[in-house]
Amino acid sequence: MPEKNQQSESSPQDKRADWNENVRITTMTKLGASLPIGTVDPVSGELSKGIEHRRWNLRLEKAIGQYREGNRRKNMGHFAASILAKVCTVLGGLALTGDEKQLNQDSVRVSQMWVGDVLYAWFWLRRQILGSLVYFSVRCTNCGAQFRTPADLDTLEVRTVDSLADTHWTYDMIEPIKIRDKMVEKLHMQSARWSVIQLISGDGENSGSMKAGMILDSIHSAAGLDNVQLVEHELEEMGKPDIEHLSAELDRRNIGPDVAVDADCPKCHVQFRTSIDWAYDSFFSDSGRYAP
Ligand SMILES: [Zn+2]
Repeated sequence: MPEKNQQSESSPQDKRADWNENVRITTMTKLGASLPIGTVDPVSGELSKGIEHRRWNLRLEKAIGQYREGNRRKNMGHFAASILAKVCTVLGGLALTGDEKQLNQDSVRVSQMWVGDVLYAWFWLRRQILGSLVYFSVRCTNCGAQFRTPADLDTLEVRTVDSLADTHWTYDMIEPIKIRDKMVEKLHMQSARWSVIQLISGDGENSGSMKAGMILDSIHSAAGLDNVQLVEHELEEMGKPDIEHLSAELDRRNIGPDVAVDADCPKCHVQFRTSIDWAYDSFFSDSGRYAP
């Protein structure tokens, strides 16, 4: 049975983020069927956070298989949004019918959600349907050996907020740059939209364009240039210290699940940090539930 929407409750045991005490650090087990951010209800102004999904049966599996065959060229970010649009019935304020004719439109609506929300919904769906233990392939950063390593979705840190304003923060530039004839010293940052993952995840080799895309999508506005939507070429003067520091801060302050886990190389016994591989084929298959 699909789990009913449990509203997230503020609990005193939850840790608070060191950059904003309104950002709670919790786990998937505690947060349950609730988006870490959510979508703003146009009437009440409150965040809608519920996650509900249909039963994943053979009929749905066949429909997903057919969709996958027909869309092999689309990247994982795109595919995850389409599967969520098919399997979920509620994602925050979105009501999803599962209707084939609506699928493209619904996928676009999912891709407009925050990165942390879509990733959380994807992890939640995996946990509800196949359990929280995930095995995925990694390559050792020291000796290059390829092996399978586990992650328990229930133990991941999840950062969550009860107000959209708490996803915002200010970045002080190490090397201020001139944009539209103004020296910009501060950038106002927000969560990125999933659509940016759809644009960049197929291009995993090019970490430069990945960082640029993520940075651009996460800028709400530049101090002194409020309400101006920046375009990529306007950031081209951003220096390397800012690119690296801002990318690291985006990771650190990201609202949603923390995808970094430790892996132990069975060959050279070096421990290193890696990111959970959430691509559909390993994440949603039986082989992803067990060690080799
Ligand atoms: Zn190794």
